[in-house]
Amino acid sequence: MPVRSGHVAQSLKKLTFYSSLLAIGYVASLTLNHDARQESERSDSNSKIINNNLPNIDSNIPTDQPSLTELYAQVAGDIHKKFESQIENLEAKVLHLDNTKKSHPNVKFLPENQRKRILVTGGAGFVGSHLVDSLMIDGHEVIVVDNFFTGRRRNIEHWIGHENFELIHHDVVEPLYIEIDEIYHLACPASPPHYMYNPIKTIKTSSIGTLNMLGLAKRVNAKILLASTSEIYGDPEVHPQVESYWGHVNPIGPRACYDEGKRVAETMCYAYQKQSGVEVRVARIFNTFGPRMHMADGRVVSNFILQSLQNEDITIYGSGKQTRSFQYVTDLVDGLIKLMNSDVSSPVNIGNPDEHTILDFAEIIKKLVNNNYHASNSMIKHLPANEDDPQMRRPDISKARKEIDWWPRVPMMMGLERTIEYFDNELKQVERNKPNQFLPDEHKLNFERT
Ligand code: NAD
Ligand code: UDP
Ligand code: UDP
Repeated sequence: MPVRSGHVAQSLKKLTFYSSLLAIGYVASLTLNHDARQESERSDSNSKIINNNLPNIDSNIPTDQPSLTELYAQVAGDIHKKFESQIENLEAKVLHLDNTKKSHPNVKFLPENQRKRILVTGGAGFVGSHLVDSLMIDGHEVIVVDNFFTGRRRNIEHWIGHENFELIHHDVVEPLYIEIDEIYHLACPASPPHYMYNPIKTIKTSSIGTLNMLGLAKRVNAKILLASTSEIYGDPEVHPQVESYWGHVNPIGPRACYDEGKRVAETMCYAYQKQSGVEVRVARIFNTFGPRMHMADGRVVSNFILQSLQNEDITIYGSGKQTRSFQYVTDLVDGLIKLMNSDVSSPVNIGNPDEHTILDFAEIIKKLVNNNYHASNSMIKHLPANEDDPQMRRPDISKARKEIDWWPRVPMMMGLERTIEYFDNELKQVERNKPNQFLPDEHKLNFERT
């Protein structure tokens, strides 16, 4: 921005300088004209003031002419005033443009032969927007397709207007015809309240939406990565969950629209791979948290943090003895990119094996809020258990370690601190009625990305 403003200031200085030159030139021509006319008058004292050979630029000079000095001063003053007011207008316009101009985070420059055109479906959502940040910063061209069911423009608004970025408001249930090299297919509501809100739409998104993306991948010969889920293991009878486990899913329960939707999405990936030679990647994602989770997401991390920060009761569904293992969002993004760039086409678990009971988790969050913000008066409140709620979940990530050289780097506590800070800021923004934007730079935690 300073570079641009400096450049504009220089241009304006030049304009002022040239306008002065122009004024001097104009006055000089006026003088010549005036002298020539006097000369003409002298040579023919009977003739009137007519000189067709000279431009009639001084026709408005009265016959009882002012002195030359007065004339110069008056004309030069008029011209300067005119230019000054034009320059003022220009300055105001430039200032306005500078203020409204978007500044984007820095991106790497990639030569044409290394730069990919990458489609991220669901790119305005929680995980998708972080993935978009990474791909953009790495220098690729990114096209986001989202229907904004749970995603938000502000998650990606810092890229809008960037030459490498495009946003398409589109529902993946409808066919999509674009040209791309890779597809990260994330479009699908992920939080239980969101995917249960309209189960038929969730099924259509997972089935027809994935079919369309596979059809697109087939037509343009693109690689496609499906964001699958640990939910395909259902309420597991094998612990921790390995990729070879087939799962334990109730096909007619309330979670089935999501679980079975993702299972059929995986099935379609392998059908397209086998029948049409489409190159597929399947990431089985375990519980993930971080900034840009929706305030009304309804998942356990956002619920507990918001409840603690606002001194509301912490809601535990059931006994709280059920377990989950939580990974920070940047770890997931690194895993997705590594998987896409690997040659592993079979499913891979991406998650953090750091397992906790939900009750423990509530205490951890309450303590973090107490230590870093204010004494939280939140009490634990038990509500009825959710139907078919998986009782234990922990990924076995040996395959990811071995085959794509990936494992989580961000300790859960560090990720939680960052996420609490984000939600605290969100609450303040809401109070001040301001839009919020979490920029990629704010991710610089004390660890190196691999
Ligand atoms: P999210 O709800 O924040 O993001 C989903 C995005 O998809 C949103 O932007 C939403 O508007 C968009 N979307 C939904 N239906 C669409 C449609 N029909 N057409 C176009 N866009 C549509 O959820 P998230 O947590 O970012 O999850 C992203 C993906 O990762 C999902 O596929 C989810 O199943 C998977 N996943 C997430 C987690 C997790 O813990 N976050 C765990 C397992 C799997
Ligand atoms: N499709 C799409 N974009 C494309 C190609 C296909 O959205 O660039 C959709 C298409 O509308 C179809 C689905 O993907 O419904 C599956 O395509 P495929 O070519 O595999 O099947 P077909 O069109 O032969 O049924
Ligand atoms: N949960 C809870 N209170 C909440 C939200 C969730 O006790 O306010 C529990 C939920 O019953 C589940 C676990 O936390 O056992 C994780 O739920 P979440 O919705 O985050 O994700 P899931 O892993 O079930 O998809």
